[in-house]
Amino acid sequence: MLRESVYREEHQPGSTIFREGEPGDCAYVIESGMVRLETLRRGRKITIANLGEGELFGEMALIDGEVRPSTALATEETVLVVISLDQLREKLEQADPLLTFFMRNILNRVRATQSRLLGDPERRERDRSDDAFLYRDTSLTRHRERAMRTLKLQGEINQALAGDEFVLHFQPILDLKSGTTAGVEALVRWNHPERGLLYPADFIGFAEESGLIIPIGLWVLEEACKTLRRFQDKMDSLNAAAPPLFMAFNLSSRQFSDIDLVRNISHIIDATGVNPEQIKMEITETLLMDNPPRAAVTLNGIKAMGLEVAIDDFGTGYSSLSYLHRFQIDTLKIDRSFVSTATMNAGSMEVVRAIAGLARNLGLDIVAEGIERPEQVTLLRDLQCDYGQGYFFSEPVGRDQILARIESEYGGDKASNITPLTGAAGLGNFPKVR
Ligand code: C2E
Ligand code: CA
Ligand code: CA
Repeated sequence: MLRESVYREEHQPGSTIFREGEPGDCAYVIESGMVRLETLRRGRKITIANLGEGELFGEMALIDGEVRPSTALATEETVLVVISLDQLREKLEQADPLLTFFMRNILNRVRATQSRLLGDPERRERDRSDDAFLYRDTSLTRHRERAMRTLKLQGEINQALAGDEFVLHFQPILDLKSGTTAGVEALVRWNHPERGLLYPADFIGFAEESGLIIPIGLWVLEEACKTLRRFQDKMDSLNAAAPPLFMAFNLSSRQFSDIDLVRNISHIIDATGVNPEQIKMEITETLLMDNPPRAAVTLNGIKAMGLEVAIDDFGTGYSSLSYLHRFQIDTLKIDRSFVSTATMNAGSMEVVRAIAGLARNLGLDIVAEGIERPEQVTLLRDLQCDYGQGYFFSEPVGRDQILARIESEYGGDKASNITPLTGAAGLGNFPKVR
């Protein structure tokens, strides 16, 4: 049976904690007392180790999924802290693939050495022909391949950061009432020298798994802030009588749980001289709910600097809404899946209506994502969504295209002459869908 969380076990002198050959679903740290690890060799018990307070045992089977290599006995009254498979699995999955590979290699050698020193030839033979051996081998291969992929990608990403291979595209977010650009979302792309232009789906997952998302994310934020300055300077030079543009950027789980996040953001804001109130951090519900108390601390730090916070892909993650008032949030972005079906499916429309109502009551802004069709614009405006984003208005584009957009919206005498949108009229041509 899997053990759910950390707990303690008490053992009397002479009691068995686990037996050699059993599968292992937990490891132990000795809080007090003594534990003996022993193995049977040709019918004789051999002591492998006597362990005392603070020492760890039972970790081998937990890490490599094989059977216990020895029997563990309490030799006096003993209290153990139990570490469950589930807890460790989560940590191992998040660990650097290179570290995991190293650890598995070392463990394999320890098992081999132990088997050579202690095991009889018969048992070694059994070990070799056993499924366990096959498991060990294929599992190690998998770890090796993962580590090698990470190493290769690490090299490529470092090169990409040094060689300006990452680029930002910006997707306009429009005020649905006035039809003007209220802000943009920064979306990263990788101009790979061999593979061409890569989209986030091609590399963010891997960058997240390996931790390389941290330096990429810092580059994204710095570049986004520098570009925001360019956009704002342009607006100012046109004397645009419009609210300041905002720049939204995305944060993944690793980035959000990075303890240096708030300090790094603060540093980038200072260095680029942007107004923090024009920056919007997009995070997902799942990310908040992973560890609500920690998320609240991070969000407080972000808010204290003056940034805005948006919940991305809203409606797809954590189903309870109870957290909304617990965190300092400014904006909900309704996920594309609801927006794309809202005009065809009464259920989706009701979800959008409910989210819009909820946001209004909580004093939050609403952005509808993934707008592709004119009838969606009409519906979303009727449902009082504040902002809209999607291929209908514009795909993500380069910096110069946003500058041109600002020029065409606010240049000349247009600043005082913006025609509000009415239905699908005046929305421009239907843009190409990627
Ligand atoms: P997201 O934050 O939900 O970003 C919106 C995605 O939807 C973008 O894909 C955008 O191009 C696409 N999109 C926008 N309008 C439409 C539309 O009308 N129809 C359809 N079908 N799609 C639309 P993209 O650029 O491929 O980004 C995918 C995801 O990658 C983003 O989803 C975001 O979660 C992540 N991402 C992008 N840039 C970054 C980054 O700098 N850091 C991190 N951590 N994640 C990023
Ligand atoms: Ca986003
Ligand atoms: Ca989204």
